[in-house]
Amino acid sequence: MQELLAAAFAVSAALTTATAVVARRRRSATPAATALAGTCASLALWSAVTVLVHLDLPPVVHVWASYAAFVGVLGCVVGLYLLARTIADPHHRPSRRQVAVLTGVPGLVLVAVATDPLHHLFFRSTGYVGDPAHFSVVFGPLFWVHTAWCYGLLALAVAHLVRARRRAPAVLRHQITSVLVAAAAPLAGNVVNISAPDLFAGQDFTPLCFTVTALVSARAVLRQGLLGVVPVARAAVLETVTDAVVVVDAGGAVVDVNAAGRAMLRQARPDLPDPVGLPARSFLSARALAGLPGGYTRYALEYVPGLHLDVRITAIADDRGRALGRVVVARDVTEQVETRQHLEDQLALVERLRAQLAEDSVRDPLTGLHNRRFLDVALATELERAARQGSSLGVLTLDADRFKAVNDTHGHAAGDDVLVAIAGTLTAGARQGEVAVRCGGEEFVVLLPGADARAVHRRAEELRAACAALRVTVGGGALVRPTVSVGTAVHPGDGVDAASLLAAADRALYAAKAAGRDRVVAAGGLVAG
Ligand code: GH3
Ligand code: MG
Ligand code: MG
Repeated sequence: MQELLAAAFAVSAALTTATAVVARRRRSATPAATALAGTCASLALWSAVTVLVHLDLPPVVHVWASYAAFVGVLGCVVGLYLLARTIADPHHRPSRRQVAVLTGVPGLVLVAVATDPLHHLFFRSTGYVGDPAHFSVVFGPLFWVHTAWCYGLLALAVAHLVRARRRAPAVLRHQITSVLVAAAAPLAGNVVNISAPDLFAGQDFTPLCFTVTALVSARAVLRQGLLGVVPVARAAVLETVTDAVVVVDAGGAVVDVNAAGRAMLRQARPDLPDPVGLPARSFLSARALAGLPGGYTRYALEYVPGLHLDVRITAIADDRGRALGRVVVARDVTEQVETRQHLEDQLALVERLRAQLAEDSVRDPLTGLHNRRFLDVALATELERAARQGSSLGVLTLDADRFKAVNDTHGHAAGDDVLVAIAGTLTAGARQGEVAVRCGGEEFVVLLPGADARAVHRRAEELRAACAALRVTVGGGALVRPTVSVGTAVHPGDGVDAASLLAAADRALYAAKAAGRDRVVAAGGLVAG
């Protein structure tokens, strides 16, 4: 039986030694390797000295082997604590105080163990009991202090692992779970060993239990890539990118949110608790959680007023194609959106100003009629149309009669009022397509598209009569009764281009003035006459 146990501990020592060597070699590939190597080396020592305890050796060897086992015990406990810390946070570096506690306490324990023959506070007694006789110890108070410290440290390690598991992405979670389950083995073994030392005839199986923990951890760390450089580096990158990243599992629960995502949520949704573990629908839109044909989608949205996001969603699946969930990446594009909106507003303003300027440049500010510049374009356009359609085009030139006298008698402002009144008359009864412009001074032109000589004359007479009927009360209360003289010309009879048509109409106007004013004279009539 003793030989069998010795063999089991020897196998444990060999396995942990080999794992320690492998872990140390792989220390550049994963930050957890060093703690793992230390744990395994301590376990190897613990197992090796336990082998000695089970061999038929002189009692003094047994006593010192029991003492030496404490180096392994303490190294194993500190190693497991550091391994758990590293799994929980791969960037964790123990502070000076932590280093002092993690090395100082074991140092004190070892001093207490080594000096035990002087005070017997650690072991009350050591010796052989039973038949067949086996080596047995009765623990003293310092042993229990040491045990409490070890349990405290292991409990802390478990707490860190539980926290790490909660936050880990789905792919790493089952590996952390296996480490956690394995961590239960030494706890159970040790509890049995201390609470019922005679159950297994005083045999301490704790190092074997720890060996299970170490080997399962080694498998997770070295074989399954837990904390490999790549996942750790990826996790680090994820934490530093400025895009918000939210990982949602297949059940719709949030399993990971990076630092940028947490910051964005704190700002946009201060009412939310820690987002990890929440149903994703509590802060992601239905669109973000809808089906993902093709495994990818991208859209823009205003998440809360004033926060514009560019959202990209990618489905994630395992090696066998089973859906694991989705990654939602949101970029804050508020600045770009606001800049674009600002630019669009400015462009619209510039466009309005341009249109206004264009309009102003073809308008007469006093009367609101179009001006000479507009007439040039309008006349050319109407002539083109008349030529194309073979239709006629009438041109009237109107000039206020004895207008200088109005200015001289009533003042320039009164003259302006009269000009505005005449302009109003020209547009008041305007026919479809008619164009009235003020050419300058007290001269106006009216275009009558499609009108033949008869219609032109009729419309000219109408306008003349309307002007003659005006009674304009000017400043000072005086009443001005303006009249206009009108010359008419018709395309194509009186001219085929703008210059000849206007010249013909002007000649007719001149004739109307000469004939006594307040009358209409047709260019055609002139030629005929
Ligand atoms: P006629 O019957 O021969 O056309 O006589 P008239 O006095 O109207 O002709 P004339 O060309 O001698 O005078 C035109 C006057 O129109 C002279 C000018 O002071 C006046 N006038 C030109 N533009 C404006 C304006 O914008 N406002 C005012 N109040 N008067 C103007
Ligand atoms: Mg005049
Ligand atoms: Mg004139």
